[in-house]
Amino acid sequence: MRGLMQDWPLVVHKIIDHAALYHKGAKIVSRSVEGSLHRTGYEEIRVRARKLSAALARRGVKRGDRVATLAWNTWRHLECWYGIAGMGAVYHTLNPRLFPDQIAWIVNDGGAKVLMFDACFAPLVEQIAPKLRHVECYIVLSAAGDLPKMKLPKKPIAYEAAIAAAREREWDRFDENQACGLCYTSGTTGNPKGVLYSHRSNVLHALITAVGPAVLARPSDVMLPVVPMFHANAWGAPFMMPMTGTSLVLPGPRLDPPSIYALMESEGVTLAAGVPTVWLGLLRYLEENGLKLTTLKKVLIGGAAAPLAMIETFEDRYGIEVIHSWGMTEMSPVGTMCVPKPPLDTLPPAERHALQMKQGTPVFGVEMKITDDSGRERPRDGASVGRLKIRGPAIVKAYFKGAGKSAFDKEGWFDTGDVASIDAHGYMTITDRSKDVIKSGGEWISSVLIETLAMGHPSVAEAAVIGVAHPRWNERPLLIVARKPGCGCGAAELLDFLSGKIAKWWRPDAVVFVDEIPHSATGKILKTELRRRFADFRLPA
Ligand code: AMP
Repeated sequence: MRGLMQDWPLVVHKIIDHAALYHKGAKIVSRSVEGSLHRTGYEEIRVRARKLSAALARRGVKRGDRVATLAWNTWRHLECWYGIAGMGAVYHTLNPRLFPDQIAWIVNDGGAKVLMFDACFAPLVEQIAPKLRHVECYIVLSAAGDLPKMKLPKKPIAYEAAIAAAREREWDRFDENQACGLCYTSGTTGNPKGVLYSHRSNVLHALITAVGPAVLARPSDVMLPVVPMFHANAWGAPFMMPMTGTSLVLPGPRLDPPSIYALMESEGVTLAAGVPTVWLGLLRYLEENGLKLTTLKKVLIGGAAAPLAMIETFEDRYGIEVIHSWGMTEMSPVGTMCVPKPPLDTLPPAERHALQMKQGTPVFGVEMKITDDSGRERPRDGASVGRLKIRGPAIVKAYFKGAGKSAFDKEGWFDTGDVASIDAHGYMTITDRSKDVIKSGGEWISSVLIETLAMGHPSVAEAAVIGVAHPRWNERPLLIVARKPGCGCGAAELLDFLSGKIAKWWRPDAVVFVDEIPHSATGKILKTELRRRFADFRLPA
């Protein structure tokens, strides 16, 4: 017998419809690419998104077509997502921090017909345009008067002019499994792979994160996604926040600590989300200038492991709750959140912080297990480590164009490429990416844990650990450290600092100091580059 409830498709434009009607008081404040602050609300976003659908339809965009965006987090980019998705086309975000050739490759692989971009990316677009095989139309996210002078195969159109000339177009009607967004993974090895979100997966992800173990946002909250919309769906904020009626503060191109701080204070931000590198910079800025965050209540840290010292500083010094979260582009992207739940919610501060270093428990809709290399499940005892596999309605079942087939098995599990343990309470700890694992005498050493602990030393700005060849143990850990300006701690002091915090045989065999730790385009430590740089490193005998 089948249920008798309505078949109401889970499509993302229903989110903005809801917000426009019932969350009229929420504000959307953006730092524009031109520099000024721009203010709007969900109602106006919806009207303009529907005009954009009309403008795109006039230029030949049809259901299923990809429309690429090369843009910072602003109200216009938000309108693009809804306007493109609401006509059944696919928003395809591009990361401007990648190399131009890589961006061109991604646009071609995605097959975008239209490229929409911020005026500040005009030189980059000029450079890649001759290589773009499918793009027929270029739209600059600017007013007609701000249109940059540029040489393109087709004359660029100003976004504001296109919208001004259009009438609102009704949302298209289609099934909830219609493709909605396309985002390529960071791909530190090989070509990046496309993750094709559906309307259903995006709507479910917004619901899933809204009811996750951390109550993230209410209508009274003001959220700042520092994480860009071109990285893993901006962690779902563009869908979850209008759904919950939360105000949004969008930082545009200014992601430096003074700009982020000023925006948080002037707009009363209560919740912010970003990768650890962003928070390292902000915390240093607060410390150097004797500043406090007067409105921020919660900070969502993900994309890489949150160091212990960062958790302690936010919570103990500034009274800001840390929610450590793990996820992937492939899972829309949130997978776990770390919130101390009963019986762990009454732990004393030191133990609470140690728990918060774990990546947390899955949100509803994420099934999770760890296995050995032959696929046998490993125990959830906090000690056994294995390949982390996941399943759920907002998780990829295949990459775009069938890339990376080996990551999927017959039972629908996706191999994340992460190595992790799961404890008896269900809290998951990432110990490494599988390709970064250090195997010493056949046993795994967690580079992530050593890094996050080393960053607790007052002289350390950032730390990375890689495995280097060793004649007896096969590999041993090398600690690579960027010191804070004016700090001069030595190797022995750092190794002493780690002793007692990690097993003796995990102690790095050597420490090297560098000016800066290299990062990928999505803010992760670039271990491939470090391994290349230290390929010939000789450990002390
Ligand atoms: P991306 O798809 O670019 O967001 O990268 C996803 C990968 O980032 C994951 O597979 C992890 O290796 C890593 N990652 C994300 N969040 C965390 C976290 N909280 N701790 C450790 N690694 C993380």
